[in-house]
Amino acid sequence: MNPRIAPIRNILIVGGGTAGWMTAAALAKAHEGTECQIHLVESEQIGTVGVGEATIPSIAQFNQMLGLDENELMAATQATFKLGIEFVGWGAEGESYIHPFSTYGKGLDNIDFHHWWLRLYNEGKVPDLEQFSLAAAAARAGKFARMAPLTEAPFDALVHAFQFDASLYARYLRTYAETRGVRRIEGRITNCKRRTEDGFIASIQLEDGSELSADLFIDCSGFRSLLLGCELGVGFENWSHWLPCNRAVAVASENPGELRPYTRSTARAAGWQWQIPLQHRTGNGHVFCDEYIDEDQATEILLHNLPGPALGEPKVLRFTAGRRHTFWEKNCVAIGLSAGFLEPLESTSIHLIQTAIQKLLALFPSRACEEEKRRIFNQRTVHEYEKIRDFLILHYWANKRPEPFWRYCAAANIPDHLAGKLSLYRETGHIFREDDELFSVPSWLAVLHGQGIRAHGYHPLTMKLPEQELIGKLEEVRGGIQKVVSALPRHQDFIARYCASL
Ligand code: FAD
Repeated sequence: MNPRIAPIRNILIVGGGTAGWMTAAALAKAHEGTECQIHLVESEQIGTVGVGEATIPSIAQFNQMLGLDENELMAATQATFKLGIEFVGWGAEGESYIHPFSTYGKGLDNIDFHHWWLRLYNEGKVPDLEQFSLAAAAARAGKFARMAPLTEAPFDALVHAFQFDASLYARYLRTYAETRGVRRIEGRITNCKRRTEDGFIASIQLEDGSELSADLFIDCSGFRSLLLGCELGVGFENWSHWLPCNRAVAVASENPGELRPYTRSTARAAGWQWQIPLQHRTGNGHVFCDEYIDEDQATEILLHNLPGPALGEPKVLRFTAGRRHTFWEKNCVAIGLSAGFLEPLESTSIHLIQTAIQKLLALFPSRACEEEKRRIFNQRTVHEYEKIRDFLILHYWANKRPEPFWRYCAAANIPDHLAGKLSLYRETGHIFREDDELFSVPSWLAVLHGQGIRAHGYHPLTMKLPEQELIGKLEEVRGGIQKVVSALPRHQDFIARYCASL
């Protein structure tokens, strides 16, 4: 059959971490009722990276695509709800702000809310930005509920993501995928064979000598990038001059008490520490740059700042920020850590796995793996990575901390896209979401304002409203938010009622 129209008959997924099982589940669902065979190879001996517990709201689309029941998923993965991230000490020691999921207030007359707020804030006539975010207020109060859209209110309803146990999430998706026909093979891959005519991957070989062939290979082998990097030789673009953290030490601890509906990120002398509350434990980690402190010092800082007694031994992970030059090469698509790494500051890795799967399904190839489809996939992925990268750089760059690591970050030569965004905001208060970039206006605003960047201007059309009327409108937002929050159930109680682990 002409390979340009010949359908893919078999797919081999290499790796059974979060990326492998998310891909297996989505491909199994998409190929239900077809002849296509899907296999997944993983090695228990090698294991998975074992972290990756915080998500962003886009994961709801993935769950919907698979038809998952949210309460069941949460119970099975010991999950909690996440309304945003609290950044402690990032702009300067002693400061804290929340990057909330969802908006501040609501736009008026097609002008973003923050312009109206800025007009009064610059004159000291209204409180700080966080007071106008329902998500931030609910997070600080430890409250949560699923909400229908608030059409009448001058602010939007809560939007949520999850914090879950990564290994339980992979297990849950494994059951889903295997129920739909995916076959798991245990074994260590030792070799790869290529077709002579076009260099496509023909098969992989396992340690026990068995050989597995496929039309399409999905490389979910983690940092090793076994197929795309090692076999096909696709290079890595290193971004560590912008994002210098290259190590993390992680350990779980007992929960301190009530479950917070958000992730906490606390700046440390040469990096930052995460706390992710789950139902059965708290996930903790210290991300740092080894040029400023060593692994023993980083471990000590982590253990000294746990919210409860450690459960197990700390584990060190090593990485480099950056991405592969391409992500889909010949008949191999890299998804997950094999494609690139952006540190977990804004919990974007699982999102990038999800968008890679969505792009692959939208551009699903024939056996020829059409070049134009690969080009589109690669171009879009580069765009996604670069825009997220710039948002992360902002967190490091906008700081007044005194330590050498932070002084280095503040002096970095930032990418043009970020520099343009900063100067526009400073001069005019405007923030534009470019070309479908992941982070929208409220996200950029949260970090810009939260880390001390001030806008000198605001939208000129906000002058059309008399000052007293505007003060009244903003007070309506703030008061309304307080009222809604006081009526919300506690996050802990909501989980106990709907999605507690059995
Ligand atoms: P892995 O989990 O490493 O899986 C690789 C798989 O390949 C394994 O099954 C392994 O056995 C298999 N394999 C490898 N070599 C072979 C071989 N030779 N033969 C057979 N099998 C092989 N993301 C978020 O979205 N939110 C977060 O909060 C977050 N926190 C993070 C914190 C840290 C410190 C790090 C490093 C990452 C974090 N991430 C986070 C990223 C997230 O962990 C990953 O994106 C996610 O776990 C996917 O990993 P993976 O499946 O690509 O790789």
